[in-house]
Amino acid sequence: MMTPSSSPGAPSRKIIVLGAGISGLTCAYRLHQAGIDVEVLDREAAPGGVMQTRAVDGFLTEGGPNSFQSGEEVLSLIHDVGLDGELLEADAQMPRYIYFRGQLHRAPMGPGALIFTKLLSAGAKLKLVREPWAPSNPDGHEESIREFVTRRLGGELHDVMLAPLVSGIYAGDTAKLSMQSVFPLLVELETKYGGLLKGFMRHMKAERKKREAEGRAKTRRTLCSFKNGLKTFPVKIAGQLGGRVHLNCEVRAVRANPGGGFTLEVQENGAMQEYRSDRLVLATPVFETAEHLKNLAVSLSAHPWPKTLSVEFTQAATDLASIELPPLAGVCLAWKKSDVPHNLNGFGFLIPRTEGIRLLGCIWSSSLYPHRAPDGWTLLTNFIGGATDPEIISLSEGQLVDAVRNDLQTILGMSAAPRVVTVNRYDHAIPQYNLGHKARIDAARHAVGQIPGLYLAGNYLSGVSVGDCIKQAHETVKQILSADEHG
Ligand SMILES: Cc1cc2nc3c(=O)[nH]c(=O)nc-3n(C[C@H](O)[C@H](O)[C@H](O)COP(=O)(O)OP(=O)(O)OC[C@H]3O[C@@H](n4cnc5c(N)ncnc54)[C@H](O)[C@@H]3O)c2cc1C
Repeated sequence: MMTPSSSPGAPSRKIIVLGAGISGLTCAYRLHQAGIDVEVLDREAAPGGVMQTRAVDGFLTEGGPNSFQSGEEVLSLIHDVGLDGELLEADAQMPRYIYFRGQLHRAPMGPGALIFTKLLSAGAKLKLVREPWAPSNPDGHEESIREFVTRRLGGELHDVMLAPLVSGIYAGDTAKLSMQSVFPLLVELETKYGGLLKGFMRHMKAERKKREAEGRAKTRRTLCSFKNGLKTFPVKIAGQLGGRVHLNCEVRAVRANPGGGFTLEVQENGAMQEYRSDRLVLATPVFETAEHLKNLAVSLSAHPWPKTLSVEFTQAATDLASIELPPLAGVCLAWKKSDVPHNLNGFGFLIPRTEGIRLLGCIWSSSLYPHRAPDGWTLLTNFIGGATDPEIISLSEGQLVDAVRNDLQTILGMSAAPRVVTVNRYDHAIPQYNLGHKARIDAARHAVGQIPGLYLAGNYLSGVSVGDCIKQAHETVKQILSADEHG
């Protein structure tokens, strides 16, 4: 058990991780492996945060993340927790589609395919070929994705291919998203080498040399899930942590203790409790982290903390609270295969906003992984909402289903009524790395770095994907272990 307030000051180097999403669980698991006394608190009855796999009448649905990319850090975590045998890899050759001018077109899978795609005009292809001579960012200001991509690769490539791709990851608006925060490598390649093509070739060469010097093989990047869905991952990690994960524990307030360490006010099964820890990792969604920083600012206004610290925490809280998290819904619908005119051989499709279709994209879940639907049925996972359509927050579940169904009828031609399997709504789904994001994050990191034992983890720091969250959590763990070594 954690140390309740009845035994304050017990000597220990305990860490509490707040949040049992993939970020918090990764931190806790790696800290536990390093022999550190760690406890995780989450308000929900199950671990996993936005990972929402549900089994309903023979269907296996994902309302949140559907897949993750097989990076080195993800695969090593999967291996360490003993999930190798549960891993599913999607067929990397499966076509992806873009709905454009009333038709589904195969998305080009490599630079060569860009020349032959019907998605771009001859003028747009010429603009691509001329990329090495594209104008540079004149004054080095922070550009939106739309600004950067239009300048280097052309407006058509932006509208038809890049914007839908970004909306498939962030459900965001490329006119507001920061190129530097979302694609820092591409900005670096331009700055360092004067162009993307030239920079990319040099970068690949340098990476290959580095891998060879370190004796590492290249990790194949494919989309993955687990036989029983993504929730397998957090459930397994939490299982490895055993009684160290405390569910149904809502942290209401966090204080920095004058003598060091933290006090947390926790509502646990309806009763208020106080918990103390020496160190604290905030692995909550950014708007909740902002609230905790605001609470901390109050406790930091008293002795012995310098007066300016409370002000800096209040500002950091305001900055983090200003990060937009638009609403998003995952609508899982099923049809009998015989009612679907399309063969659905592929990953699914994305839709440029210029097409006037409300649906953001559709994943052909039962084509991607086995056992997602009973025999004879097909399962489609659809996303609607995001930064360009926040109005979905006021739609009822029935209206969401109708909107998705209408768009699918237009695109895939199903006229039969679908079976509604699950509808997942997120009022605050994915943090938007909009212009100014880096400055906001740097300021929050600076404030937090001044309190010994306080750390941040989560999807607003260095990438929103499951793989990025795991990588970022590993960085936080490194920071903690390094502080241990030096303290
Ligand atoms: C709809 C959707 C689709 C996505 N699709 C993909 C995809 O296909 N591939 C991909 O790689 N990524 C995808 N992502 C992104 C990725 O899933 C998330 O960025 C990642 O899972 C976030 O994990 P996290 O641990 O940082 O946060 P969360 O999962 O949000 O976990 C935070 C936890 O903190 C807990 N918490 C918050 N406040 C408190 C409190 N006061 N007290 C106690 N507990 C608290 C919450 O209950 C929650 O469990 C998707 C995200 C969404 C929303």
